[in-house]
Amino acid sequence: MRNPSALAKEFRKYGKAASCPIIDMHGHFGPYQGIYFPADTAEAMMRIMDRAGVRMIVCSSHTALVDTRRGNPEMAEVVAKYPDRFRAYWALNPNYPDRMKEEIEAYPEQKGFVGFKFLSDYHKVAITDDRYGPALEFAQEHRMMILMHTWGNSPYDGPALIEEVAKRYPEVTILMGHSGYGEWDRAIGVARDYPKVYLELTAAYHANGVIEEMVQGAGSHKMLFGTDMPWFTPHYGIGCVLCAAITDEDRHNILHRNAETLLRLRGVNLEEDDG
Ligand SMILES: [Zn+2]
Repeated sequence: MRNPSALAKEFRKYGKAASCPIIDMHGHFGPYQGIYFPADTAEAMMRIMDRAGVRMIVCSSHTALVDTRRGNPEMAEVVAKYPDRFRAYWALNPNYPDRMKEEIEAYPEQKGFVGFKFLSDYHKVAITDDRYGPALEFAQEHRMMILMHTWGNSPYDGPALIEEVAKRYPEVTILMGHSGYGEWDRAIGVARDYPKVYLELTAAYHANGVIEEMVQGAGSHKMLFGTDMPWFTPHYGIGCVLCAAITDEDRHNILHRNAETLLRLRGVNLEEDDG
């Protein structure tokens, strides 16, 4: 069967769509140990974004995932230099509680950041552990957004644990990075049942049929586009959304509208050349 999507047709022809300025809610930046990235500078990333019509990307620096003190300022520089294309997540590491406390207190002074980033599976601290308490309390108080790495059946950030956090901190907007990869039904259920929990699609694309299940189960208004760039380039994920058996309305929600709403609530100006 031919894909009847007008949006897909436009992407096939031009590689991007003027009516669909994509927002990538899960990016990184800079080099990472053990792998070579051909395009990990801000300028190289922007060239790739331009090819696919990605208007803005929200990133946490790779360095910040390991060494927050060095990495968060590095990300701040990128946002300051290219405020129209980059926003950032403020990475926190619960293995250094004293440092984390300082960094939470310093957060309100930071420009260009739209929330926190947690990487519990890598930091080996469960999202429900007391060490995350101060960050979650702060996020609840300030109605913040947090991009959490989530993975199916993980003892650190599996969907069941995300549900506990969502229950305890209902004002926190939780982006389930990788959509609880593999434990799809449970993740979809959490996004369906908790108004501020979203499914973020990085890596989930290649599980055939999962985008359709998410749209049916949680709704396209609870789904967000992301790539893990510079690990991956955006066209693959875009293609998966374009070829899924969903409507163009769903595609617009996933590729940019939901992200626009979340970012506008956090003071990001997206008024010019709006699609
Ligand atoms: Zn990531």
